[in-house]
Amino acid sequence: MFRRHSFLSFATAAALVTTAVAPRLAAQAAPFDPALAAEIDKRTAAIADKITAWRHDIHQHPELGYQEKRTAALVAAHLRALGLEVQENVGGIPGVIGTLKGAKPGPTVALRADMDALPVTELVDLPFKSTVRTVYNGVETGVMHACGHDMHTAMLMGTAEVLAGMKSRIPGTVKFFFQPAEEVPPNGGALAMINAGAMTGVDGVFGLHVGPGPSGTLSYRSGSITAAADSWKIIVRGRQGHGAMPANAVDPIVASAEIVSALQTIVSRSVDLTSGPAVVTVGAIHGGLRENIIPDSVWMIGTIRTFDPKSRQVIADRLKLIATKIAEAHGAKAEVHVELGYSSTLNNVAMVSRFSPALKRVAGSKGAFESKSPSMAGEDFSRFADKAPGFFFNLSVTPPNVDLFNVAGNHSPLFQGDDAALPVGTRAMANVALEFLVSGGIPKTP
Ligand SMILES: [Zn+2]
Ligand SMILES: [Zn+2]
Repeated sequence: MFRRHSFLSFATAAALVTTAVAPRLAAQAAPFDPALAAEIDKRTAAIADKITAWRHDIHQHPELGYQEKRTAALVAAHLRALGLEVQENVGGIPGVIGTLKGAKPGPTVALRADMDALPVTELVDLPFKSTVRTVYNGVETGVMHACGHDMHTAMLMGTAEVLAGMKSRIPGTVKFFFQPAEEVPPNGGALAMINAGAMTGVDGVFGLHVGPGPSGTLSYRSGSITAAADSWKIIVRGRQGHGAMPANAVDPIVASAEIVSALQTIVSRSVDLTSGPAVVTVGAIHGGLRENIIPDSVWMIGTIRTFDPKSRQVIADRLKLIATKIAEAHGAKAEVHVELGYSSTLNNVAMVSRFSPALKRVAGSKGAFESKSPSMAGEDFSRFADKAPGFFFNLSVTPPNVDLFNVAGNHSPLFQGDDAALPVGTRAMANVALEFLVSGGIPKTP
């Protein structure tokens, strides 16, 4: 009942937007030709096994951000075989752009997939489980597609094949962005690709992300969908000494422990949470070598997530003040670096109202829903959506045999994606792209 009411209000909002930009839009908002949707379905079904095979291959050979050479080569070879114009090493990183020029004139739409994996040791027992290992931040670790970017890449390779087969019916251009290093803030791979001109002439951009939830369902929302993600680092410098004689040393471990505790008060005491949720997390802390030596220094790193620009500033200021003053109280010194990373991803209202019906059509009985709240995850899709109207949506991929009430989320070594959801993502991207082009895009300033 609740969902139904919210859908009605959403539909009303969509109608208002459509009215506000009439008459050009009204003429364009004709229903999507069911024959085109049927052809997308048929072409996707025909390559579903290939998409699954790509996904397994990429999953088994994960590459960290900026190192996606094998994945990029696989993608580029596929796009070239489809007859697309292919650019490699876009932005001086392993970025790939495939351009599909339709047989008829029209706008340009971009579809984006990210390709990088994470320094996580896979614990899911799959036939295509990753056994790749690396050294990250000085620590030996596995490498795993724990954020599902293997699925993003495979699905978009599928969408490219589906749309390449429909070239004669495409009015406009489709650009396929295969982006490295989404997981590497503060810069991320999107920035380098945009600086290299990726978004030049693009009239609208779509992206999707997989996550936990009933496999094959889609969700979306207008406005903010992912949080601003900033990075921080604190180095607490004390004075090294014997662990048995702490009075002769300045202990950075004790000072750091207090800093970690005090950081928890920023969100609870200093942020106006009515302006949006916020998070401060300590992700790693390192100091010392053995039991009887007080180390010289401790470093810690973490992330800040916000939606409100004022909260973003308040947190950065408080983090600096808390760390430096606590360190000072212990006779130590804290160096604090806060690096602004990805901004919040803002979904364009007109894009969501115009193309969310396509998601409902694609999800069918599985369902496509409007989300009540954004994700605290960060995403450098936000950079693409800064340059042209953007629409980023979610695809749920939890396999049916996994308990949804006890499911491992993204970045967990137990994260799992259901192959059966792959064709849904492929169809979703093909549908929104084609519907965007057929309807002539959306006005520049909704
Ligand atoms: Zn991630
Ligand atoms: Zn991700």
